[in-house]
Amino acid sequence: KKALEVKGLVKQYKDLTAVDHLSLEVEKGKIYGLLGPNGAGKSTTIDCILGMKNYEEGEITVLGLSANKDRKKLYQRVGVQFQSSFYPERIKVYEICEMISALYKKPDDWRGLLRAFDLEKCAKHYVASLSGGERQKLSVLLALIQNPEMVFLDELTTGLDPKARREVWAMLKQLNQKGLTIFLTSHYMDEVTALCDKVNIIHHGISVASGTPEEIILRS
Ligand code: ADP
Ligand code: ADP
Repeated sequence: KKALEVKGLVKQYKDLTAVDHLSLEVEKGKIYGLLGPNGAGKSTTIDCILGMKNYEEGEITVLGLSANKDRKKLYQRVGVQFQSSFYPERIKVYEICEMISALYKKPDDWRGLLRAFDLEKCAKHYVASLSGGERQKLSVLLALIQNPEMVFLDELTTGLDPKARREVWAMLKQLNQKGLTIFLTSHYMDEVTALCDKVNIIHHGISVASGTPEEIILRS
C-alpha cells in the first residue's frame, strides 16, 4: 500500500542541517509533491531516498526496499529524472533513447513513449536543439523507459512557459491514471495544487505543513 516511507531523516553538510527530522509517506498510485524554495532541501531528500547520499539519521523504505541494502532491485523498479543539463549535447534524441533502452534491455519500448510524448518529430534532432519544454519531456520519458512503478521528478517544470508546463502536467496525470506513483519536487504552489494528491512544504529542511492541496490552501 505504501510506496515510500521516510522516518526522521536528518542530513548534514558539515554544520548545515539540510534535512531536519523529515518524515513522510507516499501511498501507491498517488502523486506526492515536496514544495519549497531553492535550498529548502528537496534535492537532498531525493538523493537520500535513492541511496545517492549518506545521511545521519532516519529510516527510508521505497517499494518495500532499502536503497542502501537493495540498490540493484530498487533501481530496476524506480525511475529517476536527471536534470536535462546532465545529458550530453552532441547526441540525438533517438540515440539517447536507444542508449538508455539498451542499458535496461528494453530495446523498443522508447518508440511508443516518443509517440505518447509527441516527440517523434524530434527523434533525429540534437538534444541541444530542443526547446525547454521538449527537453523536460525527454528527461521524463527517459525516466520511464524501464517501465518503473514509481518515478522521482526534481523540479521538472522550472523554466518552462505556461503552455509547456500544462502539457507536462497533463502527461503526468495520464501516467498516474495508468498506475504510476509519482514523487515530485517543485517551488510552485500552483503546480503542486494542480497535480498532487498530497503536498509537503519544507523550509530549511523542516516540514512546515503537509496535507491535501485543499487543506494546504485553507491553512495558508
Ligand atoms: P533544493 O533542492 O530544495 O534547492 P538542496 O537539497 O539542493 O535544496 O540544498 C539544501 C541545502 O543544502 C542548501 O542550503 C544547499 O546549499 C546545501 N547543499 C546542497 N548540496 C550540498 C553539498 N554537496 N555540500 C554542501 N551543502 C550542500
Ligand atoms: P538543485 O537546486 O537542483 O539541488 P543545486 O544547484 O542546488 O541544484 O546543486 C547542484 C549541485 O551542487 C548538487 O550536486 C549539490 O549537491 C551541489 N551543491 C549545492 N549547494 C552546495 C553547497 N553549498 N556546497 C557544495 N555543493 C553544493
